[in-house]
Amino acid sequence: MGQILDALHQLQAIELKIAAIRRTEAGKTRRVQTYKRQVAAADTQFAEHRKAVRERQLRLDQLNLEVAARDQNIQKQRDALGRAKTNKEYAAILAAINTTKADNSKLESTALELMDDIQSLKSATVHMEEEKTALLARVADAEREAQAYRDEVAAELARLEGEREECATGIGPELLQTFSRLAEHHDGEALAPVQEANRKRTEYICGGCNMTIALEIVNVLKSSEEIRFCHVCGRILYLEEPASRRSS
Ligand SMILES: [Zn+2]
Repeated sequence: MGQILDALHQLQAIELKIAAIRRTEAGKTRRVQTYKRQVAAADTQFAEHRKAVRERQLRLDQLNLEVAARDQNIQKQRDALGRAKTNKEYAAILAAINTTKADNSKLESTALELMDDIQSLKSATVHMEEEKTALLARVADAEREAQAYRDEVAAELARLEGEREECATGIGPELLQTFSRLAEHHDGEALAPVQEANRKRTEYICGGCNMTIALEIVNVLKSSEEIRFCHVCGRILYLEEPASRRSS
């Protein structure tokens, strides 16, 4: 294998290691963000919940006022009952009192329902607070873990980046650019081995995309250090078998 291809291979190995570290790091960062989103969602839910409690409390206060007003009314009607001059008048006032009483008992049972509601909302709120505390702890754990990973790999990353720079000096700027573009496009795999599809019929394929590689390209790779690309996926081709190298 030629010197440049060797350098490209080294570069690819370094790139893949860096990419793996970056992927792990990104995964840990995503975890922190996921937990933070959960905290934000819990906050929103919590706020809605408190709003619901406040609304019910307001309605309950209103109901209690109404009940008190009606109670006062009943008292007035009772006083009027004593002053009734005819049986008819008496019966009418009594009927009115009964209607008000019936109304009030409806209001009172609605008030009881509201109080139950408020009670269960409040106990749910306690549960929500506990959940949020747990979520915050999870965020802190995930943040610690992400930071610990960054600390752990910082030296390794710096070393790999130094190696990458060193390795890149042996490769021309144009080829380096092509390599970077291919690496980005093919998930770090800028190189592809030429593979024998059929030994007897000497058919070769690109190990990256499995498309046929012309025999003349294989011959160029066998006999020179020229760089050749797969005409389908564009990857930089290399011969993988030691036997091929020996024959060159
Ligand atoms: Zn290909």
